[in-house]
Amino acid sequence: MSANEERICRAPRGSTLNTKGWTQEAALRMLMNNLDPDVAEHPQQLIVYGGIGKAARSWEAYDAIVRSLKTLENDETLLIQSGKPVAVFRTHPDAPRVLLANANLVPAWATWESFHELDRKGLIMYGQMTAGSWIYIGTQGIVQGTYETFAECARQHFGGTLKGTITLSSGLGGMGGAQPLAVTMNGGVFIGIEVDRTRIAKRIQSGYCDAVAETLEEALAMAEAARSAGRPLSIGLLGNAAELLPEIAAGGFVPHVLTDQTSAHDPLNGYVPAGFTAETARQLRGRDPQAYIALARSSIARHVEAMLELQGKGAVTFDYGNNIRQAAYDQGVSRAFDFPGFVPAYIRPQFCEGKGPFRWAALSGDPEDIYKTDAAILRAFPGNEGLQRWITLAGQKIAFQGLPARICWLGYGERAAFGKILNDMVASGELSAPVVIGRDHLDAGSVASPNRETERMLDGSDAVSDWPLLNALVNTAAGAGWVSIHHGGGVGMGYSQHAGMVVVADGTKEAEARLERVLTADPGMGVVRHADAGYPLAAETARAHGIRMPMLEP
Ligand code: NAD
Repeated sequence: MSANEERICRAPRGSTLNTKGWTQEAALRMLMNNLDPDVAEHPQQLIVYGGIGKAARSWEAYDAIVRSLKTLENDETLLIQSGKPVAVFRTHPDAPRVLLANANLVPAWATWESFHELDRKGLIMYGQMTAGSWIYIGTQGIVQGTYETFAECARQHFGGTLKGTITLSSGLGGMGGAQPLAVTMNGGVFIGIEVDRTRIAKRIQSGYCDAVAETLEEALAMAEAARSAGRPLSIGLLGNAAELLPEIAAGGFVPHVLTDQTSAHDPLNGYVPAGFTAETARQLRGRDPQAYIALARSSIARHVEAMLELQGKGAVTFDYGNNIRQAAYDQGVSRAFDFPGFVPAYIRPQFCEGKGPFRWAALSGDPEDIYKTDAAILRAFPGNEGLQRWITLAGQKIAFQGLPARICWLGYGERAAFGKILNDMVASGELSAPVVIGRDHLDAGSVASPNRETERMLDGSDAVSDWPLLNALVNTAAGAGWVSIHHGGGVGMGYSQHAGMVVVADGTKEAEARLERVLTADPGMGVVRHADAGYPLAAETARAHGIRMPMLEP
């Protein structure tokens, strides 16, 4: 097949193996699922989400990964270096079947400039978080986190609901596309400025966004009508945020909540400068990348200035994890960090309990398998009100993309307990094939990202990246199915290091032991990282669960 030919990836379904074991099979299916046109943003370029977050370096590398997974023995480990398979070594049955390292650069070289140079030479690949580690499950993967963030924002500022409020954001891409649904699930009205018409169409088609507006006036009229009637509504507004936000800030409208999810972490590929459409931006990007980056950076500065003005007028404003404040700060916007990041504002207490985005996918491809697991989790945690509400809403509102999957935030103890339940359901035949369990790298103990997950840590340890590296090591030692170490996810080159893990429930006793070890150590790292930083809730969680921390022992 020639490189230009249209490639369509779709994971095999059912209970027949195409490989020599269920962990290899899970890796194969999840790699293909990441690139399924229903899942990935630009599958032809192997781009899954988040700017240029890719699943494999090239189609040649993809084909070699598929070939290697099909022949990989149950005591072998495949090594992936930035999306390219580089070696297979004999290890042992409980070792990971795949180890991945994506986009890692020696710290002094950790800039977009060196990355792009290496990328042009075909030597590296940006893996984002779950793109290069083969556990992206479509926009659902981020919906619950987004829902929880807006719910906490509602609790802190609006009496527990977004009903009667308008949230303004930008960027309706792979993850940003979760915002409209997350806001309406919280009862509110949402306007999302998006420069690419096809992205809005994609969110409307998947049921994540309700309506499209062609002009600001039209969007504001629709939003106000819904807000005053107390009706939830989400609107994709076609336009450029770098133009529309300054216009909004200069006018009379002040949103109740303001954030942003353009891919501002990557000024070349993720942010469209003022004066450009998605199409004209594409042309300039190809023609003159340096000029493009300069224009994008100054537009980002204006964008953040407008956010600061609206914050000054009363909008509850926060950075949603795309490093937009840093980009503006570097352009001389000295007050860029006057609005907080979403983790210290809304998420950190959950991290202290080892809570984060736990996900699982049915390798059978049968939605019924996921519905059975929904029922099982509702039975397993009857007292967890948030979880009960989320799973019920998700069952009604979330359309599956690719292999049916579910996400929910579970903490220390809960993850291991539910892993066993899933393995038992596979063993008894209640589920028609094994289940793969994983998580985002955006989790309690798996990321160092000083402008995001580790912003303003109590002890100032924001930039210490020993923690995600230890997380990857302990998951490898505990026997995860595949483990990954990445750089630059979410916030771009130089700003984060993070680790991923995936583990497979195939119904065997061996899998039961691996699940117990991995799903204990992995969230345990989140508790430990926060207890070590001095968070009392984390220290209490460690004590209550008997997690051993030598420096905290009497
Ligand atoms: P994406 O690249 O798929 O989508 C970005 C969208 O922004 C695109 O649709 C693009 O057309 C649009 N856009 C770019 N410039 C614009 C402009 N000037 N005006 C209007 N629209 C514009 O990225 P994604 O997967 O949706 O992620 C978005 C950002 O959020 C990334 O920086 C990502 O790293 C970050 N992120 C957020 C979370 C979270 O929990 N919220 C988690 C991980 C990452």
